[in-house]
Amino acid sequence: MAIKLAERIERVNLSMTLAISAKAKTMKADGLDVCSFSAGEPDFDTPAHIKAAAQQALEEGKTKYGPAAGEPKLRQSIARKLKTKNGLEYGPENIIVTNGGKHSLYNLMQVLLDPGDEVVIPAPYWVSYPEMVKLADGVPVIISAGAETDYKITPEQLRNAITPKTRLFVFNSPSNPSGMVYSPEEVRALAKVVVEKDILVLADEIYEYILYDGAEHLSIGAASSEIFPRCIVSNGFAKGYSMTGWRLGYLAGSLEIIQAATTLQSHSTSNVCTFAQYGAIAALESSQDCVEEMRLAFAERRKVMLERVRALPGFTCPKPQGAFYIFANIGKTGMSSLEFCNALLEEEKVAAIPGVAFGSDDCVRFSYATDLATINKGLDRLERFVRSRMN
Ligand code: PMP
Ligand code: GLU
Repeated sequence: MAIKLAERIERVNLSMTLAISAKAKTMKADGLDVCSFSAGEPDFDTPAHIKAAAQQALEEGKTKYGPAAGEPKLRQSIARKLKTKNGLEYGPENIIVTNGGKHSLYNLMQVLLDPGDEVVIPAPYWVSYPEMVKLADGVPVIISAGAETDYKITPEQLRNAITPKTRLFVFNSPSNPSGMVYSPEEVRALAKVVVEKDILVLADEIYEYILYDGAEHLSIGAASSEIFPRCIVSNGFAKGYSMTGWRLGYLAGSLEIIQAATTLQSHSTSNVCTFAQYGAIAALESSQDCVEEMRLAFAERRKVMLERVRALPGFTCPKPQGAFYIFANIGKTGMSSLEFCNALLEEEKVAAIPGVAFGSDDCVRFSYATDLATINKGLDRLERFVRSRMN
């Protein structure tokens, strides 16, 4: 019997970042020598003190249901962090703890959008944004920025994309997939448009911990007093603290939004794993040296990968200032991004993510959240692959 699925799920695609990363892991498990530049996942283990805090909570019997919005102590720690690090004045009641940053974003789209509401998303964008909008019956409105503007949009582009139906602008800096970071001046200029047009902005700040070359991260909600009530912040522990599998994120915003997200969560996922939340408290409340150590390792890997990718014939790639991705334009190879990535995996066992997943079919994303030996081996293979195609 053919099962008819809801139209809602028929209009979205499976996450390509997760699918390709899983394929690379399976190939490795099958004994194939795969170099994976696919996953946006730090290769480091979670720092020991964070694991110890969760273990202790488990021992102490923190194994029961908790409040749907999260453990009060964690919500307090997050509020403190947002105030001291980002200049955002939220109380614990303005925060909901979620199953990862992805779940924060999903919750927000669900509580904010009515059918036909528009959400402005700059491309290249993280793969899940448009799909989440569609799952909430909203309409993604894509504005594109190319390598010539460092993959950053201008205030004019934002202004021109806003219609009476626009509810939300999705702003991700440092960006996945481009690694670009908007300067404080650029953030302020975009914030002005958000205020002038009286829309909301979602600041996805999951990569704020990973910056290079002195790049500065300004949270868009802190750009002016006018924008603060229009801003919703999404963040998490996955990238900065290497806690991808813990599934811990949070959303901060006005009481109406956080209460609505809590209602949604109370009927969907309930609270995030109780003892895991104690690991998150330790992450925020302990020394941040572990974050810096990982950042320094990423900085070294970035240098190697960037130099080698830029030297490839036909490749162009602006210098990313954050996150752990190189987003290279491969247009001159004559292949689509999917053809390129399929052939690269098939012939050379190197996994990368096609730019089409991020709305830029002439680009490919290489993650350097892996060790230097793998980076060098994978780049040797990539070089061989590209040279064979360009001759
Ligand atoms: N936003 C961006 C831009 C991301 O790259 C990711 C990576 N998964 C997420 C949100 C969600 O992260 P997580 O759900 O693992 O916390
Ligand atoms: N965000 C990471 C990436 O872009 C992890 C995979 C995912 O959640 O999509 O690769």
